[in-house]
Amino acid sequence: MQRVVVCSNCQAKNRVDEARLANSEAKCGQCGQKLDLKPAVITDRTFEREVLATQGTPVLVDCWAPWCGPCRIIGPVMDQLAAESQGQYRIAKLNVDDNPQVASRFQISSIPTMLIFKDGQLIDRLVGVQPKQAIAERLQVASRFAA
Ligand SMILES: [Zn+2]
Repeated sequence: MQRVVVCSNCQAKNRVDEARLANSEAKCGQCGQKLDLKPAVITDRTFEREVLATQGTPVLVDCWAPWCGPCRIIGPVMDQLAAESQGQYRIAKLNVDDNPQVASRFQISSIPTMLIFKDGQLIDRLVGVQPKQAIAERLQVASRFAA
């Protein structure tokens, strides 16, 4: 099965094989960015490059931990939002236990916390379990935000 995936970096439409997508092997034919329908997993080390360096599209970072019950409710919502993004935004996940630098830099005191960045700035923050529609609306607002 093939499906069309819009690149979050250059907005090019790519026709890709679903099996390759599932294995995170698909790359954009135009710019080479990885095409992924799953949230990107980021760390203290990759945060700068994967989140702050992203221009034009908002990046939502779901800050979570394996022991956190409510985070397990948000997880599938993040998967759905990532699959439906159409290149309008990016969804990323950060394990706060393994990545204390980002967690302390943005004063994450309870999880799940969702941070929304645009053009290298933190512009919105959602704390606790939220309905998918509410998160999607905040992403829409973020995509119109101009610094
Ligand atoms: Zn691209």
